[in-house]
Amino acid sequence: MTQTRKAAALISGGLDSLLAAKAILDQGIHVEGINFFTGFCVEGHTHAIRKKDRAKPKRNNALWVAEQLGIKLHIIDIIEEYKDVVINPKHGYGANLNPCLDCKIFMVHKANEWIEKNGFDFIITGEVIGQRPKSQRKDTMPVIAKESGANELLLRPLCAKNLPPSKPELEGWVDREKLYGFEGRTRKPQMALAAEFGFDDYAQPAGGCCFLTDKQYSQKLADLWKASGSKRYELDDIMLLKVGRHLRPRPHFKMIIGREDGENKFLHGYRKQYTHLFTASHKGPLVLIDGETTAEDLDLAAQITARFSQGRDADKVEVEVQLLNGSKQTLRVRPIAGEAIPRDWYL
Ligand code: SF4
Repeated sequence: MTQTRKAAALISGGLDSLLAAKAILDQGIHVEGINFFTGFCVEGHTHAIRKKDRAKPKRNNALWVAEQLGIKLHIIDIIEEYKDVVINPKHGYGANLNPCLDCKIFMVHKANEWIEKNGFDFIITGEVIGQRPKSQRKDTMPVIAKESGANELLLRPLCAKNLPPSKPELEGWVDREKLYGFEGRTRKPQMALAAEFGFDDYAQPAGGCCFLTDKQYSQKLADLWKASGSKRYELDDIMLLKVGRHLRPRPHFKMIIGREDGENKFLHGYRKQYTHLFTASHKGPLVLIDGETTAEDLDLAAQITARFSQGRDADKVEVEVQLLNGSKQTLRVRPIAGEAIPRDWYL
């Protein structure tokens, strides 16, 4: 009896990893999915808390892909180890603070450790040559295989025909003829294959699978590093960068201003860790202060808070300030004029 071979598929939740896993499943291979949680994932975060996006389904796309394929999904927390990838990427960053090449190498490396531990035979990814300018190029494909340590155990079903055969192909575990030769930025071949497989409701991530590809998010992360004087972060820091309007009125403090109800409630969960402000006389945002503040700074923060409340046109707005030591004070301030907020305060 021939042995059933086992493959671990890296599942991001996007179309490519769905198709890659399906192509291998259809060859009679036992496939299980791995989804890595870095803390920067777009999946189900901001759109899950903001009211304006409530009409959109809030599904976890990686779980949804696993369900479509009928495979087991292992969601693995790599938050701590991943910090070094973001902080010191050997191959540098992409257009923003996205260390895509190092990230791919790291994830395949972790998958390689996982298959060794769990008795699996090889790894599959949804990579396509030329799909992304930095991490998915013909010359970076062997770099990922080599530096991750996976070498010939890494199979990319969607572009395998454009690459030297991997071990699963050479050993006949999978039929190379039934794999694909996709190349370039066009998504048309993937969409045609999705239709052939009968998938019509897949996620279409714009740009990438994580917030690090987002320009504004990267600016906020760079500001966080600059203000703290070192390229370090905790999970709470990077979660808060996804929420609210961020303003830095002074180098030593920043304000995180809830933009609507869902965000105010989310920020409320952090009120014990930050000095925070809210308007008492009018409906308005919850505001967290990140940094040390003087009485003068708090007065400025109160004027800004008032500006983003429904009292923006009022003469005076009452703003409650709750300090970290638990003490409270009420400030009666005039809302700052919109034109008095310089552009560069907005992160
Ligand atoms: S977009 Fe983010 S998760 Fe995807 S490869 Fe780049 S850094 Fe990694």
